[in-house]
Amino acid sequence: MMLSHHLADETLQDYASGVLSASMETLIACHLTVCPACRHRAEVADAIGGISLADQDSVTVKASAADILAMDKNNTAPTARPTTTTPSLTNTGVPRPLARLLPAPLDELPWKSFGPGMKQYNLSNQPRKEGAFKLLSLAPGSRMSKHTHQHRELTFIVSGSYTDLMGKFNAGDIADLSADHHHAPHVDSDVPCISLIATDAPVKFDGLFGKIVQPFVGI
Ligand SMILES: [Zn+2]
Repeated sequence: MMLSHHLADETLQDYASGVLSASMETLIACHLTVCPACRHRAEVADAIGGISLADQDSVTVKASAADILAMDKNNTAPTARPTTTTPSLTNTGVPRPLARLLPAPLDELPWKSFGPGMKQYNLSNQPRKEGAFKLLSLAPGSRMSKHTHQHRELTFIVSGSYTDLMGKFNAGDIADLSADHHHAPHVDSDVPCISLIATDAPVKFDGLFGKIVQPFVGI
């Protein structure tokens, strides 16, 4: 798998500090499943986080993507999360941290259409103002309205590919966007581009069309 887009340093630091939402941690775990480079960077960030946490009397350690990846390992150090990971893809090519959340294979999910060639599958019931966690499937040639983000948006490409100002994103790549990015992804694969998206606040569409469809898309 040729990967060209990775996690930002700031995201890895937040991940190591345990301040990201469960949905973002799951999405990061999907990329770590296929990216040895980011796995190594996550372990370094974890080690640094562990040193600063060790000075505190009581520490709440919540489940992290590393925990999810290493569920069958048993490392019980109180302030250090397991760093030995067992990356794995299911035989359908879906990273296991995502596959665990799905009731059926991708092509049998109860997708909901929100426009020509566009459908979504919600992985979270949280109110839209708290962000989204969902799968989007966009047909070849689809173009998302140009939009930006109030906080952070992570996108993991499950299959197919798209291109935007930042380049081409293939299966396994992660788009790690902060608030100042405006982008308008365009699906350039000949199969649907399926991506996993986690946001911590609603996206802000630039154009009128995007603002109209946003309540239906729910991102
Ligand atoms: Zn990576």
